Amino acid sequence: MFIHIDRRKKCLVTILSIMLLLLNSCIPYELKKTPLGEDEYHKNGEDLDRTGSEEDNVYEIEVKRKDKDTDEVKEGTTSITISAVGDIMVHSPQFKSALTQDGEYDFKPVFQEIKSYITNSDLALCNLETTISTPERGYSGYPCFKTPEALIPAIKEAGFDVVTTANNHSLDALDFGVINTLDVLDKYNLLHTGTARDEEESKKILMIDRKGIKLAILAYTYGTNGMEVAMDQDKLRYMVNYIDRDRIIEDIRRAREEGADTVILCIHWGIEYTRSVDDERRALADELFDAGADIILGSHPHVIQPMERKRIVDNNGKEREVFVAYSLGNFISNQRDQYRDSGVIVNITLTKKDNKTVIEDVVYTPTWVRRFQQDGKLQYSILPVEKFIDSELPASELNRIKAVWQETTEIIGNEGMRTSK
Ligand SMILES: [Zn+2]
Repeated sequence: MFIHIDRRKKCLVTILSIMLLLLNSCIPYELKKTPLGEDEYHKNGEDLDRTGSEEDNVYEIEVKRKDKDTDEVKEGTTSITISAVGDIMVHSPQFKSALTQDGEYDFKPVFQEIKSYITNSDLALCNLETTISTPERGYSGYPCFKTPEALIPAIKEAGFDVVTTANNHSLDALDFGVINTLDVLDKYNLLHTGTARDEEESKKILMIDRKGIKLAILAYTYGTNGMEVAMDQDKLRYMVNYIDRDRIIEDIRRAREEGADTVILCIHWGIEYTRSVDDERRALADELFDAGADIILGSHPHVIQPMERKRIVDNNGKEREVFVAYSLGNFISNQRDQYRDSGVIVNITLTKKDNKTVIEDVVYTPTWVRRFQQDGKLQYSILPVEKFIDSELPASELNRIKAVWQETTEIIGNEGMRTSK
């Protein structure tokens, strides 16, 4: 009996999804599984102000926000730390879980345990792999991500400064999604790069000065799931930054010309769910380093891929140290399969001395998305793995946390990079 109802429900969901797809002219480029947990989800409007059970609260982190602009600059030498995480995804069980009793959405509890790790850096970046919608237009998960506005203040409060918006879901709500997402990011004073509302904005390079170190941040995506065919072609010319080798090299040149000490490229690329790096991406990364990029932060595969620190001699004959993280994994999502439930915070320390900026140190913090029931309600929390490895969470969760630690340190564990608590 139940099986029949369940099947019918699934069938209905499938039909509705197809209708929705057609309505939105949404043609997914990739074949992904429907997010898990959709059917098991129970919406009962529990208040989400409390983030954990009593035992979880033992691990509550005290958050001290560093004043990012007024830190003293040591004579002659300046150091800053940049933190970067991978994909911020919002599948439908997540926004349903964020719905509070008063009918508002609240995503802040998701970031509660990880917040102090983000706020401690001088500049924190994340990839927003969804679009921000409105109550009138409605919300949806895969395949066309449309998320409540409340996600953005939660990202801000978690300590992020820069949100990259170029990814395969940038056009999930076509031009409205691009414009509304950027308007909402502006509203909450988050900097952004990767998509643009007009031609002028698309030409601007995001330049950020932290303690006298000038950073240029650029973002690109391999594609937009075929949604580009439904777009006004004139708007498409400037709305999304696509990966185009020549264009990226030209942007790096302009960033240097505008005085960038460090050029950071956030690239949405690679093959989903594979943990290895393909030759094509290695070659592109090398080419972009030779052209002047210092740091490449990759996202999209939804699993963590290797990172490399290396010394290169670039096209100008300059010897430099560069860093690439091919994929930072999922920072938050509803994906529960092995590797897809994990992410990483990469902390890169840059030091500027005698007008020369170098990569001083790279430290990473493995993260894991905890999905749990509390008071009959589904909840999500991003956990710093090492801190919770000997915690009093249920045994099944501890086993997964230990495994995540193994998996993450094994894949990243290159020389020159260490883990941090
Ligand atoms: Zn993606």
